[in-house]
Amino acid sequence: MKNKIVAGNWKMNKTFPEAEELLVAIAEGLDDMTLETDVIICPPFPYLEMAADISEESNFTVGAQNVSYMDKGAYTGEVSAAMLKSAGADTCIVGHSERRAYFKETDEELAKKVNLLLANDIVPIFCVGEQKSERENGETFNVIRRQITQGLFHLKKEEIAQVIIAYEPVWAIGTGLTATPQQAQEVHAFIRQLIEEKYGTETAYNMYILYGGSCNPGNALELFSCTDVDGGLIGGASLKAEDFIAIINAAETCMKND
Ligand code: PEP
Repeated sequence: MKNKIVAGNWKMNKTFPEAEELLVAIAEGLDDMTLETDVIICPPFPYLEMAADISEESNFTVGAQNVSYMDKGAYTGEVSAAMLKSAGADTCIVGHSERRAYFKETDEELAKKVNLLLANDIVPIFCVGEQKSERENGETFNVIRRQITQGLFHLKKEEIAQVIIAYEPVWAIGTGLTATPQQAQEVHAFIRQLIEEKYGTETAYNMYILYGGSCNPGNALELFSCTDVDGGLIGGASLKAEDFIAIINAAETCMKND
């Protein structure tokens, strides 16, 4: 049986001391648990090293929220995959809908980011998801197919095997509107089928597909219990240690029930 993954995306929140307080509170919460779930915390760039230091004594690993699609050099303000690795990041979110929408990231740029992350031994958490209007127009599967095909399908089998996919319906992110377990399961199964058609059954089965979008302590167990939901990418609820730990507990319960 596969374990679950719970990843926290802090987005652009917390000052340095607040970040330290939250990291310590999460580390203390995890201390009391015998964990089978893989816990990943993705703080803003300036806190990566601190998070990596704290993680050494705890049960979580550290991820970044973004990476440059350029390798290195004169790109003021950019942060490269090699820098992330050297600061202690083992994973990195790519293609979050906020970056696709506000920073106009294209599928082509996202594919380059994935390549650079893999080349630097960082696991990409590749986000896909439809807008509300796209769901209403029956375009959900087409949108997901396009995002996955263009962002990931240039990879070889052994490369895609290292990628985590996060299904995050845009209409559910930060809105309090969660996908129903049926809606989540339907899209997760579709994603797994796409992977299977291109890379075969074993790769598809082993692929981690996380759900993200207003996941909270009240709905996590039901969502994580869906056959093709391998855990969650958590935004708002990862900013409170108590809620984040409760969601991790839901993942643990799910594995025990399996
Ligand atoms: C996210 O931004 O990745 C996310 C899932 O946010 P929230 O949980 O706040 O909807």
